Amino acid sequence: METQEAYRELGLDPSASDAQLKASWRRLVAAWHPDRNAAADAGRRMQNINKAYQHIRQLRDGDGAADDGSADAAEQAQEQAPPPGDSTAQAQGAPHAHFRKVRLSLEEAILGCTRTLRGHFSHRCGDCLGKGVRVLAHACSHCQGSGAVRKPALFGWYWNEAGCTDCGGDGRQREHCTSCDGKGVAEVSYRRRVRFPAGLRPGHVLSVPTSRHGALEIGLELEVEIEPHPLFQLDDDGVLRCEMPVNGYAWMAGRWVEVPTPDGLQQMRLKRDALVYRLNGQGFPATPRGPRGDYMVKIVPVFPEQHDPAQEALLEQLIAASTRSAQADRTQPMGQWQGRLKRWQSRHKDTDTARDD
Ligand SMILES: [Zn+2]
Ligand SMILES: [Zn+2]
Repeated sequence: METQEAYRELGLDPSASDAQLKASWRRLVAAWHPDRNAAADAGRRMQNINKAYQHIRQLRDGDGAADDGSADAAEQAQEQAPPPGDSTAQAQGAPHAHFRKVRLSLEEAILGCTRTLRGHFSHRCGDCLGKGVRVLAHACSHCQGSGAVRKPALFGWYWNEAGCTDCGGDGRQREHCTSCDGKGVAEVSYRRRVRFPAGLRPGHVLSVPTSRHGALEIGLELEVEIEPHPLFQLDDDGVLRCEMPVNGYAWMAGRWVEVPTPDGLQQMRLKRDALVYRLNGQGFPATPRGPRGDYMVKIVPVFPEQHDPAQEALLEQLIAASTRSAQADRTQPMGQWQGRLKRWQSRHKDTDTARDD
């Protein structure tokens, strides 16, 4: 995402403070939550808002936490995200927000789940401001504070002045930063047990309160992703659907079939006049922590392309038997039809006879 575009997405210009940035992001997330916003593109808007926020955060914290923020790192807890705010001021005390994605299965999203998340959190070392070395008040011991050292030239006839490499020429003593071991970046590992409430949808961000890991207070901002499911489909409007082929004869015969639901397999009775079945309260929660919506099962009756001789014989029997019984019952359409047909035939015969006379 382009930086300009990211700011535009958040309704800010690049001079906005970190506090404004966070406030704007929170406000927009609240406004575009697909739960509260019925717009068809609410989910997509929310993802863009999160992407923009993440992009600017990384830009501002540019502290060497080499994270490209790409989605492939999503499930890898190795993902590194820089802390919010000015690292200098934030390094000690103030909480950090670690932004990452978490992929849930559809069942986990529907029923809620508990996950243990492990990860590393990188941040700019506050002791050396990310430089890996600390500048001390006293003079560089190598150049005695002059910033330059004299070196014998090629044949030792005269002295050549060169910049002091120990202090980089400013004459002040450096010290290897022990807090980050000279890397400029400090890393803490975390392990958190997180409860995901039922009904989180793609793009939702779950804020997990801060807790102390090493010297840092880290809060997690978890953006939810949902794995594609082999059987169920979650529509944008939150309706859970399944399309299932069934034996056409079982459908005609009103048999029971097993249908998968988020809670497991369940018996469902087929009805000859119905292709879509609504299973109340077995779908996706209407809102996070809210009651479950309905689950729609669409069946596709399947008949053989061709019948083998045994099936043909059975069909023949079935047709013969059902025709007999249907014609025998004068209250049924086929029985009534049979009666009308007979009456018509006999009248036709009478007419023929009359003409012969
Ligand atoms: Zn020096
Ligand atoms: Zn350091």
